[in-house]
Amino acid sequence: MDARDTLKKYFGYDSFKPGQEEIIDAILEGRNVLAIMPTGAGKSICYQVPAMLLPGITVVISPLISLMQDQVKALNEAGIHAGYINSSLTEAQISRAYGNAMLGAYKILYVAPERLESFDFIDFTERVDISMVTVDEAHCISQWGQDFRPSYLKIVEFIDRLQNRPVVSAFTATATEEVKTDISCVLKLQTPKTVVTGFDRENLFFDVQTVKKKDDYVLEYIRKHPDDSGIIYCATRKNVDTLYELLAAEGAAVARYHAGMGNLDRKVSQDDFIYDRRPVIVATNAFGMGIDKSNVRYVIHYNMPQSMENYYQEAGRAGRDGEQAQCILLFSPQDIIINKFLLEHKDFTEIPDEDVELIMERDSKRLQIMEQYCKTTGCLRNYILDYFGEKRSEPCDNCGNCHREFAEIDMTDDAKQVINCVWETRGRYGLNIVLGTLLGANRARLRELGTIHYKTYGVLKKYSEDELRVLVNQMIMEGYLYQTAEKYSVVRLGNIAPLKDPDTRVLIRTIKEKDPERKTGKDHKKRTDVLTKAGYNLFDDLRKLRLTIAHEEGLPPYIIFNDKTLVDMSAKAPQDREAMLEVSGVGEAKYNKYGSRFIEEITKFKEANPGAVTGLIDDTETADAQEKPKPEKRRKKEKQPKQPFFLNPGDGDNFVYKDLYVVTEIKDELNRITTAENVKHIFGTDIFRVLTQMGYVEEKSVNGRTYQTQTALGLSKGITSVEKEAKSGTVYTILMYPPEIQKEIVEYYGTGDGSSFHNE
Ligand code: ADP
Ligand code: MG
Repeated sequence: MDARDTLKKYFGYDSFKPGQEEIIDAILEGRNVLAIMPTGAGKSICYQVPAMLLPGITVVISPLISLMQDQVKALNEAGIHAGYINSSLTEAQISRAYGNAMLGAYKILYVAPERLESFDFIDFTERVDISMVTVDEAHCISQWGQDFRPSYLKIVEFIDRLQNRPVVSAFTATATEEVKTDISCVLKLQTPKTVVTGFDRENLFFDVQTVKKKDDYVLEYIRKHPDDSGIIYCATRKNVDTLYELLAAEGAAVARYHAGMGNLDRKVSQDDFIYDRRPVIVATNAFGMGIDKSNVRYVIHYNMPQSMENYYQEAGRAGRDGEQAQCILLFSPQDIIINKFLLEHKDFTEIPDEDVELIMERDSKRLQIMEQYCKTTGCLRNYILDYFGEKRSEPCDNCGNCHREFAEIDMTDDAKQVINCVWETRGRYGLNIVLGTLLGANRARLRELGTIHYKTYGVLKKYSEDELRVLVNQMIMEGYLYQTAEKYSVVRLGNIAPLKDPDTRVLIRTIKEKDPERKTGKDHKKRTDVLTKAGYNLFDDLRKLRLTIAHEEGLPPYIIFNDKTLVDMSAKAPQDREAMLEVSGVGEAKYNKYGSRFIEEITKFKEANPGAVTGLIDDTETADAQEKPKPEKRRKKEKQPKQPFFLNPGDGDNFVYKDLYVVTEIKDELNRITTAENVKHIFGTDIFRVLTQMGYVEEKSVNGRTYQTQTALGLSKGITSVEKEAKSGTVYTILMYPPEIQKEIVEYYGTGDGSSFHNE
């Protein structure tokens, strides 16, 4: 058995990711290894695969209990015998674990660094053959890093004490030179094989949004992504609590996490998130280390983080499974003030004075870099990579800025007019009066105050009120103007001296989304969008089965199979063992445990949907699909474009009528009964359109939100609206249709293009 066989058998993958094979080979040759790879690059496999091939035990030192538990669960699921020893176990459980390990029950044993000094552990290591010591999250060893763990320094003593020096392998996602050198020196890795893979995370879409109402933004985002798991990072505990309460009150299935909560509460929150009971979590940066949840689809930063290192690490928790994910930073100038405050109030007790200055300097430099990230108009990805020492020449075309056009407008002269106007008001009036005057508005209040006689009345009427507001806000930010803080706040002149210098400019940055279509393009493209309609329906069924199994087994769903595996499974729709093992992420152990249930589900789906083509819309999307093209299906797809949906004569007889159906049920029935070949599946929206044409339903818009309702005619035909509660707790109404309407729809699709309704 070699490394590749091991990868296939246990993990179900056909090929290594960049860097993995190199590292594994070096370890198997007996070399020490230092690997620096970004989050999600697949570091675990780099030591887990060789651990299976080395004669003795591999001891993995890992900083967090939750991390160990997660890894051990995943390994056991993959059929690898692994265990952990940490403070979450009772004394009895620990001695049982040692006993098992001595009998050779584990190939991989996870331990917390504190454990390395304990007498029992030392005793244990003297009795077994240790082939490798792996240090995961190795940056914890460096005092330069943010996650420095003094107990990590004990690792060297531990290794030195072992009778035979094992291979030492160290893994981290932190790239800076200081950290790298620290790890090598502290661990005494003489001439290690060092592997650094690129830092880019291609599947992450980066964006900075300057929004006034961050709460609304987050709420809207969650509404638009109801099926997705996400993390929302806030700067302070108080922020977390406030946002959490707001989202919970709106019915979102959210959890929260910060260091001010009790241990138990934190554990419950974390588990709710990991097990997808509450797929969204609002947290401070105390949350995340040791969270290997692979299906996090977005990370929103409610506040600007204090450094790029922090940001990239936190944002990087999105999309570990390699599928598209979004990293959005919500920026407001206020964030800079908050961060400066936090830094100024940092606890420096126990730190020598000469160091304090150094640290403060470094912190404020980091903050500046972060601030620049929020303000840059260049490619955001390149900005990040550049900071980490990777130079790029081309913009990435997969970040917010690459999808925007920026323009800077020189409004210096206009700014001077604003100043003139405020001078004329003698600082007595509020913003609305100033704007109204400049715009030359025809308002009774302006006549009453007499500002219509000002020299500046109407001088800036070429602008809209919104445009002027942007200018005035910018002038306030730059200190030329200020607003008083009392209830009826007025605008006054600030320090206008700099404007006397002819070189001083007031520049306004405007942003235009290049092409609104693109927003729904690549970046918003969901993992499942690569599937055909039938493929997606199958994916949905398989996802439900996964959740059922997860509940039965008490495991997080992604440990059973991750989303990427389910997508591949839906595309390939395997119906026997051999085909199932071809699916990326299905290894032998998982096949033996779950294979038959998934095959059953697929078979059920195929029987219910004869002729349905599951597969990828774009076959180039996955390498696997390219390797093994399915000739018949391909030809079918190339033959001719699909026709709009219709029913053949007689199909309608198979429609199962029910007292009340929702639109999607009617849709499912229609898709099920049609015998027409090469037709597109219909969607719920198609049917809704037909119902609208028939005059039964309509879409109404209230306060910017649209909802569907029946017309008076629809009501008389028995269309009823029913209140439902979403899993998240949100209450919404849906329309339900009686058999008479169901019949009309069936007839509509049975008579060709439905022209009969236009003629009525
Ligand atoms: P890291 O520790 O570097 O952040 P992980 O070891 O947690 O990353 O791996 C991230 C994801 O990549 C996991 O879901 C893992 O199963 C997957 N993965 C690792 N190696 C491969 C591979 N060779 N092919 C496909 N997926 C892989
Ligand atoms: Mg890891």
